[in-house]
Amino acid sequence: MHTVKPLAGSCLCGQIHYELAAPPLLTAICHFAHCQKQSGSAFSVNLVVQRSDLAVSGDLASYTDRGESGTVIYRRFCAACGSPIMTEPSDKPEIAYLKAGTLDDKGGIDPKVQIWCSSAQPWWSSQFEIPAFDRNLSQ
Ligand SMILES: [Zn+2]
Repeated sequence: MHTVKPLAGSCLCGQIHYELAAPPLLTAICHFAHCQKQSGSAFSVNLVVQRSDLAVSGDLASYTDRGESGTVIYRRFCAACGSPIMTEPSDKPEIAYLKAGTLDDKGGIDPKVQIWCSSAQPWWSSQFEIPAFDRNLSQ
């Protein structure tokens, strides 16, 4: 038996801390327009995790957003400093999308796919030789 070292993360001000007890199911680069707005960046890097593997402490604020399909998604961020921490889709409550930039140990990041390339910023050209999808994985 080997033990998996939990991945830890935090927000900018340190009020939010989290631990991820198991490795992410997948790490995806997301070019969805809302991910750009919410992260303030060209794209977000999301760790797809089991919600039950994730322990979060601190005061998370929430914004109720909708994906392109109309599905309600909850965007969780630090109430004090605004750092985006994770997104929880209402139709898949067992899953969370954790923002990779908030990890304290950057070694846990290993993007395998790019999604929503149809809304990627025009100057972006992929530096990664990983599968790229115009929309979501199933589309
Ligand atoms: Zn904070």
